Amino acid sequence: MHGLMMNTPLLISSLIKYASQYHSDTQIVTRTLEGSIRFSNFETLNERSKKLACGLLELGIKSGDRIATLAWNTDRHLELYYGISGIGAVCHTLNLRLSDEELIYIINHAEDRLLFFDNTLKSKVENIKPYLKSVEKFIPISKTKDLEDIDSHYLNYENLLTRKITNFDWPVFDENQAASLCYTSGTTGRPKGVLYSHRTTVIHAMASCLNNVLALRVEDVVLPVVPMFHVNAWGIPYSVPISGAKLVMPGDKLDGKNLFDLMDKENVTIALGVPTVWLGLLDHMDKEARKPHALERVIIGGAAVSESMIDRFEIDYGVNVHHAWGMTEMSPIGVLNSLKPKFSKLTRSDKMPIKLKQGRGIYGVELQIVDDDGNELPRDGASSGHLLVRGPWIISNYYKEKKSALTKDGWFDTGDIATIDKDGYMNITDRSKDIIKSGGEWISSVALENVAVGHDAVLQAAVIGIYHPKWQERPLLICVPKGDNLPSLEEINKFLSDKIPKMWFPDAIEWVDKLPIGATGKVVKAELRKIYKDYKI
Ligand code: ADP
Repeated sequence: MHGLMMNTPLLISSLIKYASQYHSDTQIVTRTLEGSIRFSNFETLNERSKKLACGLLELGIKSGDRIATLAWNTDRHLELYYGISGIGAVCHTLNLRLSDEELIYIINHAEDRLLFFDNTLKSKVENIKPYLKSVEKFIPISKTKDLEDIDSHYLNYENLLTRKITNFDWPVFDENQAASLCYTSGTTGRPKGVLYSHRTTVIHAMASCLNNVLALRVEDVVLPVVPMFHVNAWGIPYSVPISGAKLVMPGDKLDGKNLFDLMDKENVTIALGVPTVWLGLLDHMDKEARKPHALERVIIGGAAVSESMIDRFEIDYGVNVHHAWGMTEMSPIGVLNSLKPKFSKLTRSDKMPIKLKQGRGIYGVELQIVDDDGNELPRDGASSGHLLVRGPWIISNYYKEKKSALTKDGWFDTGDIATIDKDGYMNITDRSKDIIKSGGEWISSVALENVAVGHDAVLQAAVIGIYHPKWQERPLLICVPKGDNLPSLEEINKFLSDKIPKMWFPDAIEWVDKLPIGATGKVVKAELRKIYKDYKI
């Protein structure tokens, strides 16, 4: 017997419609690429998105057509999110840090019909333009009259938004319709497309607002440093409108000083991003000897956060750090770390091992760890295995790939190795391809990196496995120093001696000026493995 309740489709347009009715004057603040600050609000966002939708329909854009964006976090990019998906087309966010070759591959694979881009990226667009097979029009998203005049392939963005919208309402269609497309960064093989639906996006947005997830409140001021081309800025453009919080978009100025000034001026209470972006902010906070005044929480995910980073935020400035984990294939949120009340009385040093874990599963995401043969492992915080996930906002198939992305039992294998403890805290010990297999033991490169950055002389650290005739693999520690002090391997290992098993100590250390950072802000271990492939230890 079916229930007898309405079956209203969960559409992305409902998010902005709601915000424009109930939080109409809540601000959206953008640092434009020219550097000035632009103020908008949810009512204006709804109106301009509708105008854009009408402009797209007039251009002949149909349901299911892919429309690419190559842009930073701004209010204009938000209009594209809503205007494109709102009419059933697919908003395909392109990672602007990818090489020309990767972008050409992805755009041709997605068969994008239009390409919207930030003017500052014009030369990139010009470089790839001759190789794009499906793109009909290129549309810079700020003042661009000159471009339209010189080349008929360009369109003026504001001209697209001149339609009258008095008779336009967001169309209603099947909630399973595709809404947005994001390619994985291709660290393993060619990039693959993850195609989110309206339903998955809306459910993920609702779950993100929950108190034990991002706990977004109407009083919050939210700044996504994580780019809108990195898994839809972790869903912030969709979750913030229904929470009614104020949204602050940093544009392309993500250095410590610019972030600090914007956060300070706009009273940002919560900011989100990968670990590397916080180093610059923390250094600037040290310089100013204070935090951006309203900052309460930072959500750090995408790569493991170190104890020293948590300490700098929490001890030095009283800003709470929440570790989080997810992936492109998971829309992206999988777990988020908040302490269960029973841990509140623990000392700081007893709390730390719990805080360093990626977090507890949130409603909607099932987690399981299994051994190499697929047998489920106990949730004892010690057994580590392949991390599998299942849930309503997790991928089933990659775009244009016939083969299911799931195991025969319907789980998605994340490629991560993890433990889960009896309280449900999941801890990533490694990516399956990064774990160092030494003798019979698995050495977690992530754990080793985390303790290494706790040393005073170490700014950043990466660990890779190097071939060893007896042990099969041994760890090489590659560090960026903080200053001129370059401690020896013995000194570093002495520092590590009460923190990790002796078997895990690195066999060698290399000091470098910088680590290779990929398009999503993470260290590219594949690159390091190439550089050190003939390294002898
Ligand atoms: P890509 O896989 O293309 O780098 P994703 O953003 O989808 O991009 O990355 C997901 C992966 O990033 C996860 O499978 C995991 O290995 C890693 N990751 C994400 N968050 C964390 C975290 N908090 N700690 C450790 N690793 C993380």
